[in-house]
Amino acid sequence: MASIFTKIISGEIPCYKVAETEDYLAFLDINPNAKGHTLCIPKKEIDKLFDLDESSYHGLMEFSRKVAVAIEKAVPCKRVGMTVIGLEVPHAHVHLIPLNTMEDAQFINKTTLDKDEFQSIAATIASQL
Ligand code: AMP
Repeated sequence: MASIFTKIISGEIPCYKVAETEDYLAFLDINPNAKGHTLCIPKKEIDKLFDLDESSYHGLMEFSRKVAVAIEKAVPCKRVGMTVIGLEVPHAHVHLIPLNTMEDAQFINKTTLDKDEFQSIAATIASQL
């Protein structure tokens, strides 16, 4: 069965898109640790990050770096943190999280945004790419 992220790639499930290339997609996490929390994924559905072939892995890192630089310009924060977990969605993804406190990196504090705020922050990050 297709992962929820593959359904996002195909357009079956909507997302707040930040960036897209032929092979990768970045969109806002729907349950963000902090405003601007973004997920970067390969379009190829592979569960574990370190099971990606070397070229896809490096490509995802290069793509994630570009998105992280844009997030740092778009969202007031001390720095952008990068985390890989994958216990919830079995489709490799990189979490890019604007950090102001250690709690922002711990998946404990969650921020609630309305649709307009999601749309606005996605557009602001995209404009910095
Ligand atoms: P994990 O697999 O533990 O790295 O966590 C998966 C992440 O995907 C969580 O932070 C979820 O909030 C996020 N997530 C799950 N479904 C969606 C969705 N439809 N759109 C955006 N983010 C999602």
